[in-house]
Amino acid sequence: MIELGFPDRFVTWVFSSITTVSYSILINGKPTKPSSAKKGLRQGDPMSPFLFAIGMEYLTRHLQQLQTQTAFNFHPKCKKLAITHLMFADDLLMFSRADIQSVQILLSAFHQFSVASGLEANLDKSNIYLGGISSTEKAAILSSIHIPEGSFPFRPLIEKVVARAKTWTARNLTYAGRLQLVQTILLSMQSFWCQIFILPKKVIKEIQNFCRIFLWTGHTDPLRKSLVAWFNLCLPKAAGGWNIKEMSLWNKLGRSLDTKWPAAMSWPLKKILSSVQMIEDVGGWVTVCRNGKFSIKKMYQCLLGDHVKVPWRRIVCNNKAFPKSLFITWLALWNRLPTRDRLVAWKITTVEDCPLCTTKKESAAHLFFECDYSAAVWNTILHSLKFTRKASSFDQELALILKATKRTGDRYKLLVMYFAECLYSIWLQRNEMVFNHKCRRPADIVLDIMFRVACRATASQHMFLLN
Ligand SMILES: [Zn+2]
Repeated sequence: MIELGFPDRFVTWVFSSITTVSYSILINGKPTKPSSAKKGLRQGDPMSPFLFAIGMEYLTRHLQQLQTQTAFNFHPKCKKLAITHLMFADDLLMFSRADIQSVQILLSAFHQFSVASGLEANLDKSNIYLGGISSTEKAAILSSIHIPEGSFPFRPLIEKVVARAKTWTARNLTYAGRLQLVQTILLSMQSFWCQIFILPKKVIKEIQNFCRIFLWTGHTDPLRKSLVAWFNLCLPKAAGGWNIKEMSLWNKLGRSLDTKWPAAMSWPLKKILSSVQMIEDVGGWVTVCRNGKFSIKKMYQCLLGDHVKVPWRRIVCNNKAFPKSLFITWLALWNRLPTRDRLVAWKITTVEDCPLCTTKKESAAHLFFECDYSAAVWNTILHSLKFTRKASSFDQELALILKATKRTGDRYKLLVMYFAECLYSIWLQRNEMVFNHKCRRPADIVLDIMFRVACRATASQHMFLLN
């Protein structure tokens, strides 16, 4: 304190109040005889934060002197502002370039402070973070200072995401189940982090990659190719996606643009101006506000941009069929079901025959509904809904179903539901044949489909089905 220039008398006051501390305990409302404290001032004393601040001021001045030392090199990101350290309460961050000389100068400055003040860093609670250097340089620095190396909290984030997927009985989930898990749990966790931290691109890529593998395979080791690109899954439903949050965009909301602002401008001001610019780039405040308040959801939609709507959007969006059926329908609409014609092209198999009728080559167009087996199923369903037409090609059926989605009335709503459930059941039966060689009669498949539609139908639709 004397070095900081406090008057002698003031220092004596402070010193005596530290050394002559005594405690008295209230027992039954009466204070006991005071007992003196051997270790002086304790944590929690109203005076201690002020004394701590004075102590830290001394450290700050001490570390600032490093700026004049030519042997000391600033951390590359701190050079402009000449930052050697940052403090928050009793947490201290010190920065330097990752060379042994600079790190040692930094530490010796801290040791000098320790000697003068009696305050020592708890080495068990301290960590050193190194980046952008080779592993040999890293090892040399670590061996010279005896402080354990720390890691940024992103690794635990990735491990958490992966661990969750492994604990789920994920293998038994359908595509729709896994999609739901990816959407809600994995990404809500991630977007929570994204709003606090600006996550490194590598971390985002790793999590995104993991989600992609998990969705398509149900496990975590990279194996199969994606049936539909991740980018397309992130599109709005009307544009043929599943509205999965695109994490790099969420991250962008927390990141300012790379505009060059005058160097003298303060960091918060640069940040604010960059955000304003970002809003202007997407069309101004009007586009990103809801009820007069900024909406991060709208901002996200703006950053996602406009996408061409797919003609079949109504089949997926306004359909009460089971989610697992809708996912298979969605794959069929993208024409991405792994039918044998595609598997042969990928050189995964050499068998080309349709597993259901074994007379023709299998392709999506054959399976829906050129195949005698699937045509029999769809014809029965059309008949039950009192449609007189017979099953035709997938494109023609699709056109008719699209017309039905625009019409009101239980009959048409049911038709759209039946369509999704029918595609699902036929695909399921096809897989049963391929993997387990079990064949059921088309009439049994129809019963399955009817049961599932009845499960999801409204009361008035039930009345229609019964008549
Ligand atoms: Zn067939």
